[in-house]
This record gives sequence, structure tokens and C-alpha cells, in this order.
Amino acid sequence: MSNPRILLLGPPGAGKGTQSRNVVETYGVDHITTGDALRANKDVETDYGKPREYMDKGELVPDPVVNEIVVAALEDADGGFVLDGYPRNLSQAEFLDEHATIDVVPLLDVGREELIRRLTGRRVCPECGATYHVAFDPPETTDVCDECGSALIQRDDDTEETVRERLSVYEENTAPLIEFYEERGLLARVDGEGTPEEVWHDLRLTIEDALATGGQ
Ligand code: AMP
Repeated sequence: MSNPRILLLGPPGAGKGTQSRNVVETYGVDHITTGDALRANKDVETDYGKPREYMDKGELVPDPVVNEIVVAALEDADGGFVLDGYPRNLSQAEFLDEHATIDVVPLLDVGREELIRRLTGRRVCPECGATYHVAFDPPETTDVCDECGSALIQRDDDTEETVRERLSVYEENTAPLIEFYEERGLLARVDGEGTPEEVWHDLRLTIEDALATGGQ
């Protein structure tokens, strides 16, 4: 199967970024992630103000700003992609429906307390994008990236207060998408609480299965 079109769904901290990298490596598709695109443009002035004004509080950036990012990325993607962090509400999902066909929507299932533990302990490399966890997956030298030697940072929105807000925003806005994609027969639940390797094993089987039964 070439060029699968995958939408990875799940709460913040479920491992969408990590698993998207596995998908990209295995299937050679584009990684479309609104979070990374917005972080790279946090202080760009839009018709709705700067993305930072929403992101640092854990709120959603207005739909027109993210929709524009996604349309441009979909045009660049040569058929296959993995969407990570988009859509995040029903109106984004309906917008996406008009602009792309999706083969499968794996949902990474992780409980709330585990998400809080993961997100507040997360450290990221601002240079190469590698991610670590202070307790579960620390770098060899504290706060230094194993991959490229850069100083690791904590994302501005990974503080406990903002994490709780992001999870509430997920419950309220993004969780309804589960039903949206279930009704379309695209949703496939994956246990997201194992190690990254275990989750990837299950996710890969889910993708292969969906693509095979999709008749592609
Ligand atoms: P993420 O890296 O996916 O956790 O996204 C970080 C932050 O970027 C979110 O908390 C939102 O403020 C913003 N963001 C990312 N994707 C979207 C989206 N699809 N819609 C609205 N805001 C988004």
C-alpha cells in the first residue's frame, strides 16, 4: 500500500507526535502537524491576533488560521499524509471533509492522570524535535539532547495549569470527533498506554488492517 492518508486522533500527550514519526518513516508520507506549524509562527500577526495568545493558555487557535495551514500542507503532500493535532473540533473536521479523503482514523487511548504525568515531565529539543521525559525517558545528560546536543526545553504549554486546560479543551471540542469518525466507519481504537514500541506495533497492525479492508 502506498500513500496512506491517516488521521491520528487522541488527547494531548497520547503520543501522536512520536507515532506520527513512525508512520512517516514506514510509509514515506508527509507529517502535517498544526501544533508544530503554529509553534514556528507563534508571534506572527494574523487577523485574529498572534497564535501565542491562544496557545500559551491552552486554548484553540481560531479555525481560519489552522485551516489555512492545513490546506497548504495538503496541497504539498503527494497523496499520502499523517495528520497530527488536526482537526480539533467539528467545524475543522467538516472543513477537512471537503478537502481530503481519509483512509483510517486511529485513536490513541490514554487515561487522564497518565496524560498529565507525561505532559508535565516532557522535554523537547527545539532544534531536532526529539522528545524526552524527565522520569520515563531521560536524556543521557540532563537537559541535553542525545541526538544533536542542543539544550532541551519545556514547552510553554506543558505546565500543569495549562495541561489541565488543554485536556478540558480536548474533552469539550475534540472528543466529539470520535463519534464523527465512528459514524463514517473510519475510527480504530489503539491502546496508547504501553511503551512507544508496543503502541507502534498495535498502531501499525491497525493501519495495515484498515488499508487492506479498505480495498486499496
Ligand atoms: P499540539 O502541539 O498539537 O499539542 O498543539 C499545541 C497548541 O497549538 C494547542 O494547544 C492549540 O493552542 C494550538 N493548536 C494546534 N493544533 C490546533 C488546531 N487544529 N486547532 C486549534 N488550535 C490548534
